[in-house]
Amino acid sequence: MEYLSRLLEKVTDLKEFSYHPLCKKLKMTHLIFADYLLLFCKGDIKSVTILMEVFKVFSATTGLHISEEKSYIYLNGITCDVVDSILRVTGFKRGTLPFKYLGVSISHKKLTRTYCAILVDKMVARIRGWNKRKISYSGRLVLVKAVLSTIHTYWSQLFVLPAGVMDRIQALCRNFSWEGGDSYSKAPLVAWNVLCKGKEYGGLGLVDSRLWNLAAIGKLVCSWAWRKVCAVKDSFKEALADGLWQSSHDAYTIAKGYQWLCRSNEQKVSWRIMVWNRYNYPKHMFIAWLIQKGRLLTLDRLAKMGICLAGACFLCGVSPETHQHLFSECVYTKKCFSILKSWLEIDNQGLGTGEIILRNRKLPLLIRLLKCAVVMALYYHIWMACNSCRLDFYIPRPEQMIDGIREGLKLRLNMVFEGQMQQQLVVWCRMKRLV
Ligand SMILES: [Zn+2]
Repeated sequence: MEYLSRLLEKVTDLKEFSYHPLCKKLKMTHLIFADYLLLFCKGDIKSVTILMEVFKVFSATTGLHISEEKSYIYLNGITCDVVDSILRVTGFKRGTLPFKYLGVSISHKKLTRTYCAILVDKMVARIRGWNKRKISYSGRLVLVKAVLSTIHTYWSQLFVLPAGVMDRIQALCRNFSWEGGDSYSKAPLVAWNVLCKGKEYGGLGLVDSRLWNLAAIGKLVCSWAWRKVCAVKDSFKEALADGLWQSSHDAYTIAKGYQWLCRSNEQKVSWRIMVWNRYNYPKHMFIAWLIQKGRLLTLDRLAKMGICLAGACFLCGVSPETHQHLFSECVYTKKCFSILKSWLEIDNQGLGTGEIILRNRKLPLLIRLLKCAVVMALYYHIWMACNSCRLDFYIPRPEQMIDGIREGLKLRLNMVFEGQMQQQLVVWCRMKRLV
């Protein structure tokens, strides 16, 4: 059967094969339990023919064959011509829904009284078999307890049975208890709910079918899997109380649920536009983000961690190396910013420059973002210069560094705009030697 499953999985790659519409999401083609096999596909000749081909391959390899007598095909929503062709191709008999699989009714509709009629019929058949004999009250009670009340137990463990069916089951047990038949017209001597009480409470300890059905479903509710599901439901308690996802317009999706779980009361950081700006290179974004978090491994932080002694900035050799010094106060950095001032009219310098540029609403947003990208690139290159001095004793000249940043930005703009820049931007870029 494992081999058959593999063969069936393979056919789903074929263009000609279509899933049954209700199985498409699950990508399900079949269900197997022992020698019960259910196959699903769209009701078209091509898909059915492919499944039959799979059986041929399976039979040729294993020597196992389909029993045509025991096999049925269930078709719905297709024209008579197609039905005839499918029946011809398969050689199976056409079945009608519901059918039984592992003892329970399988149907495409909600479980109704009609589908459960089989349970009631079974009970009536038993009662009619017994009522030819004279059985005493106590004998009938034993039969109700041991036989009648157990007929629905298998189904009760799988479904919440319709109320009408439970009423009928209860009525049959009651009628047989009092009269010995399947009908009873008199008022019972004692109410059924009293009979269902335990003997210690004055009853006879019979089974209340409705409660038994609930208790059986409770087994699922108390299972490990269900408890986990309930715990998840608790996490969404507030959202459900607020009425979220309860209309068809606002149906629950995994993405919406995830966003809701990740919601935060914290304020949004003001530097996010500057750091995650699309004109930044990803490596610049990451270093800019670490600087905003104050997490670059500068010498003062390494000293705090006990990794090395605090030391002077490699770029100027004067002051202790801290974030504040490296990106704001160092003479090397000041020199770099002064070049930026003459190139891009960036008046401020140091940490926080990007945020000041972004707040200056006199300039179009695009220009502000480009200027920010230059500042973020500068931070990145200062950090690289600091490291190259640490490892190779080499520090690039500030002019050289700014030239590198300009070339980098040119490439980035080409990458982002793919040669389709707005006229206003082209003019600005020409002025700033970025084209
Ligand atoms: Zn310095």
